[in-house]
Amino acid sequence: MSKHVMPTYRRADLRFDRGEGSWLITEDGERYLDFGSGIAVTTLGHNHPALVDALEKQAHKLWHVSNIFTIPAQEKLADTLCAHSFADLVFFCNSGTEAIEGVIKTIRKYFSHIGHPQRHKIITFTGAFHGRTLGALAATGNATYLDGFGPALPGFTQVDGFDIDRVKAAIDDETAAILIEPIQGEGGIRTVGPVFLRELRALADAHGLLLAFDEVQCGIARTGALFAHQLYDVEPDIMAIAKGLGGGFPVGAFLASTHAGSGMVAGTHGSTYGGNPLAMSVAQAVIDIVSEPGFIANVCEKAAYLRQGLARLLTLYPTVIDGIRGEGLMVGLHCVGETAELVAGLRAEHLLTVGAGDNTVRWVPPLNVKQDEIDVALGALERTCQKLTAA
Ligand code: PLP
Repeated sequence: MSKHVMPTYRRADLRFDRGEGSWLITEDGERYLDFGSGIAVTTLGHNHPALVDALEKQAHKLWHVSNIFTIPAQEKLADTLCAHSFADLVFFCNSGTEAIEGVIKTIRKYFSHIGHPQRHKIITFTGAFHGRTLGALAATGNATYLDGFGPALPGFTQVDGFDIDRVKAAIDDETAAILIEPIQGEGGIRTVGPVFLRELRALADAHGLLLAFDEVQCGIARTGALFAHQLYDVEPDIMAIAKGLGGGFPVGAFLASTHAGSGMVAGTHGSTYGGNPLAMSVAQAVIDIVSEPGFIANVCEKAAYLRQGLARLLTLYPTVIDGIRGEGLMVGLHCVGETAELVAGLRAEHLLTVGAGDNTVRWVPPLNVKQDEIDVALGALERTCQKLTAA
C-alpha cells in the first residue's frame, strides 16, 4: 500500500479493478458479490449500461459549466425530484456532508429571514451520522469523530433515544429545527418508525420548527419507496440526499419546500461543481430508472425474498445473528459476536458487506440485484454462520 495515501481509513487489502452488475472483480480476477454497494451508493450495480451511456454521451458534449449560467440538465433533474417529492426547491452539491451543510444553512437562514435569527439550534439524535465536515460532525455529535478537531460548531442539541418527551424537553427559545435520518444507516440500520416521525412532525408544527430528514443513505428507492419517509406518510420541510442519487458518480442535493427554502436567495450559497452537466446526466438516468413503473415493486419483492432467507438463518444460527432490521434493501443483521468477525467471515466467502454501529452488519445490495445473487449471498451467510458456530 502506498505510504502517500493519508491513512484515515482502515482498509481491507482488496484491489478491485472492475465491476459487473452486482459483482466486483479484483486485479487478480477474483469475483466478489457486492452487497455493500460502496456503502449504499451503486444503486444499479456497477457498469450499468444506461448510466455508462448517459455519462459517455454527456462526456462528449459538455463536462462542466459554472453555476453563473443556466444549466438545463440541472433544471430537468430538479423538476423531476420535486415532481416525486414534497419539495419545491433543490440545490445540487457533490456529497452527503455538503447536502447536510446546506440543510443546516437553509434552516438558519430561514429563521434569520423571518426575523428570528436567535433561533439557530437543531435537535439531532444519538446514533446519527450526518457526515465529516465541521457542521455535519457537530450534528452527528459523536465524540470519537469530533475528538481533536477543536471546538464543535455550536447550535446542536442531541437527544438520546427516539423519545418524543425528550425531544419536547430539548426545545427552547433558540430551537429552529429537528434533523433526523428516518432510518439510521451508520448507526446500525435503526428504524425510527412511523409513530415517532409523525410525532416529530406534529411537534415541529406546534412549535414552528422545521423538520429535516437526512436521506443520504436511506433515500433513492433503497427502502421500497423513492424516499424512506414516503413509506411512513410523513413529509419533512427539508431533506438531504446523495449516495444512491448518482449510482457511483459523486452528487448530492438538498431539497426544501418554498417556505423552508425562502431564505436561500441569490448569493446565499454556492458550489463550483454542484449540479454540473456530467453529474446531472448520470443522476437523471438513475432517477428515471428507479422511478419507472414496477421498479420499486421489484425492490420490494427482492427484499421480501432476502428477508425470508435471512429469517431462516436467524432461526438456525441464533448464536451468530439475533435480529434483522431495516426496510426494503437496506438491511441490518444484528450480530451476537463481533461485527468485524461476521464481515470478515463473509468476505472470506467472497461476499462484501459493511459493518455499522450497534453491532450490526449492513446488507445494501444494488437495487437491481438478481434473485440467484441473493441465493449466493444467503449461501455465503449460511457457511459463515456454520463456521462461526463451530468455532
Ligand atoms: N448522512 C448520512 C445518513 C450518511 O450515511 C452519510 C455517509 O455515510 C452522510 C450523511 C455523509 O455523506 P458523504 O460521505 O457523502 O459526505
